[in-house]
Amino acid sequence: MFIGHFALSFAAKRATPRVSLAMLFVAAQFADLLWPALVALGIEQVTIEPGITVVTPLNFISYPYSHSLVMLVIWGALLAFVYRKTTGKRDAFFVLAGLVVSHWVLDFVTHRPDMPLYPGSAKFGLGLWNSFGATVAVEVTMYAAGVWIYLTATRARDAIGRWALWGLIALLFVSYLGNLVSPPPPSVAAIYTLGLIAGALTLVWAWWIDRHREVVGGVRP
Ligand SMILES: [Zn+2]
Repeated sequence: MFIGHFALSFAAKRATPRVSLAMLFVAAQFADLLWPALVALGIEQVTIEPGITVVTPLNFISYPYSHSLVMLVIWGALLAFVYRKTTGKRDAFFVLAGLVVSHWVLDFVTHRPDMPLYPGSAKFGLGLWNSFGATVAVEVTMYAAGVWIYLTATRARDAIGRWALWGLIALLFVSYLGNLVSPPPPSVAAIYTLGLIAGALTLVWAWWIDRHREVVGGVRP
């Protein structure tokens, strides 16, 4: 899943208005931020096999540290704990930990049975990616709902707050659609390089947006 993860981050802003949108992105995307780094290091494995699902040509051979349920529970608790210790914001613990774990649930729905419960376990997946129409319907609906919740929970403080947000909303949506119709990536190195760059870019962008928007009702993030 791709924009469905971002949908949950956008929606979570309403529940935890004091947490930056960038941090909510880190939490929901934690698995996919860690994954390209671990693939680059050779710790996790992916191959490119066009046709393996209708939607993605990626065969996720092994990713126990970034994508198993147990590891994501551990990563989620760690991330939420470090966040609470460094910022003093106590109210966000379960939202941040929950977003990290939500990645597993959403990927379990979309992936082939390649999602481990813990490193070395059997693998599970409901395979939404075997249906192009259902994948797009589910993700676009989630994305629209998440963005709508974010738009009603926050408002722009200036032009940057308005246009940087719409720029990111459009960029994520266009890259999602582009991904659906583009040819398979040329190499595994291309996958993790693009993954690392895109991950960093979206985080900086979300941080920038958050500084130029305020929560409706006056709670300053
Ligand atoms: Zn993932």
